[in-house]
Amino acid sequence: MIDSDIQDAINTQIRNEYYSSYLYLSMSAYCESRNFSGFANWLRKQSDEELVHAMKFFDYLNDRGGRVVLESIEQPASEFGTFLEMFEDVLEHEREVTGMINNLYDLATSKNDQATLVMLHWFIEEQVEEEQSAEAVVEQLKLAGDNPAALLILDRELGGRKEE
Ligand code: MG
Repeated sequence: MIDSDIQDAINTQIRNEYYSSYLYLSMSAYCESRNFSGFANWLRKQSDEELVHAMKFFDYLNDRGGRVVLESIEQPASEFGTFLEMFEDVLEHEREVTGMINNLYDLATSKNDQATLVMLHWFIEEQVEEEQSAEAVVEQLKLAGDNPAALLILDRELGGRKEE
């Protein structure tokens, strides 16, 4: 039986992953509304990935004999300013998620819950990738600046992102 504090924290993290999915889906819709379908595609794939994260926690809690209790998901923003501002928000959000995963790791350490620590290793590695991929887009957007041609090239490039 899993420790009840860890169970509660995992339930909250399921909600956090769903919120991430919702946030990126909202960003995707914003890009569609501005006719940048490549940015929209990248964010939609990102949104899909967050659902995979949520389900990993969901399955883990069930496997450990815990009780999944779904929490309500906050409404995300619908306006995101420039694409640079929006991707800076993505990066900032992923850094916050990294902090949440680290807090979960600290909790599992304090409870001496080895199985949860091993499960979290996957997420710790994943967060390195998440931050790195968001940072790469931020850097490219900084280079593009206000140049419409550069933005369109970047849009086309991000449109090529496939399912992981
Ligand atoms: Mg995630």
